[in-house]
Parts: sequence; structure tokens; C-alpha cells
Amino acid sequence: MTDLPACRRATWADLDAWTGTLAAKVRAAGRTPEVIVGLTRGGWVPARLVADHLGVKRLLALQTAHWGVTATKDGHAALTERLSGSIDAATVLLVDDITDTGESLALAADHVRAEGRPARLETATCLHITHSKFAPDYFAEEVPADRWVWVVFPWTYWEDLRALTARALPEGRDAAGVTRVLREKCHLDVPPVDVERALRQTATSTAK
Ligand code: AMP
Repeated sequence: MTDLPACRRATWADLDAWTGTLAAKVRAAGRTPEVIVGLTRGGWVPARLVADHLGVKRLLALQTAHWGVTATKDGHAALTERLSGSIDAATVLLVDDITDTGESLALAADHVRAEGRPARLETATCLHITHSKFAPDYFAEEVPADRWVWVVFPWTYWEDLRALTARALPEGRDAAGVTRVLREKCHLDVPPVDVERALRQTATSTAK
């Protein structure tokens, strides 16, 4: 991906709408699961919100890693934490935030099938980019491949801002300039005070 990617900031209102849509689709299909598995880190909050919408009490986690640094892929997706509990032939919905390459969700679905032996396994994501090699059973919004963006979710705001401000610093030179570069190159409108904080955090952590 480009060094300074086009971005879209997702709000909590977006999350509420996306997870509400997912729950409505699952309900309409008559497939409310007994267990929800959140694919962390990105699917953790969506999984909890979908569980709330559907009234599902059993919530498990498993972790994969793929995009180590904002908008930068680390080779292939890898499983980093196994399924956190037993599934015991229950019906399962595996939830993530977004399918981009689709590798993480495909890997996680294989792992849940092999490890948990569910009675039924379905998958759901808030956003689905059309070039993904794995299509979830349910998604709330489809993003055409030629409109690819890096989505800045509420739970990656500071992580993304630290990565993007560091990359924009050579061109922007100071916080005001970086704020402008983020707006013009990433279509990301963030307060200068947040840019200053992100730059400070990066400087402090690299000085250690
Ligand atoms: P992938 O294996 O490429 O489908 O993506 C794995 C994970 O990386 C997703 O669940 C997200 O947490 C993150 N991710 C991938 N692409 C994006 C994107 N375009 N915007 C925000 N997060 C992304």
C-alpha cells in the first residue's frame, strides 16, 4: 500500500449502524448463533456489539496478525492466539471489522472449524472490500476494490495516528504541517492537538 494511504475515519455511530445491520441480517436468516467469536484485535468490539444486539451471552476470542503497522501488510496472516474457549458442537458466528485480503478471516474460520468443531460456522464483518478472497456470510457495507481506503476505527485511532504522523513528518515538518499533509494526502481531518500528541508519543517511545 502507499506510504500515506487514503483513509476514512469510522465513528461510533458507524459502528452502531454496521453491527445493527449485521444482527438484523443474521436474525432475518434465522441464524442467531449460540456462540460469537471475535477475531481480535479488530473484531473484538464489533463482536461484543453484535452479541449485544443478538442477546448472545457466550463470547470467545481468537487472534490473528496480518497488518502489523497501519496500511502495511506483514506477509501472510498468522494465528497468534488460539480460540479462547470450547465450542462443543454449538452454532458459531465469527466476527471481524473488515475483510481486505480476507486471509485473516479465512485462517480464523479454518482454525475454529478444526479446533472447535462447531455445529455451524458463519462469518460476519462490518466492511467487506470486494477484492477479498474470502467473502463473509454477512457484511454491513461493501467497499469497491478501486475505492480501497485504510479505515481508522475508534480502537486504532492513536495507533494509526502515530504511524501516519511519523510518515507525514518529513513533508509536514511540524504539527501544523503534518495536520495539513494528513488532510490533503490521507483525507483525514484530525485536530492539530491530536497530531502533536501522536508525534510526542512516537518521539518518547523511540527515545527509549
Ligand atoms: P485481512 O487479512 O487483509 O482481511 O485484514 C486483517 C485485519 O487487518 C482486519 O481485520 C483489520 O483489522 C485490518 N485491516 C486490513 N485492511 C484494513 C483496512 N483497509 N482498513 C482498516 N483495517 C484493515
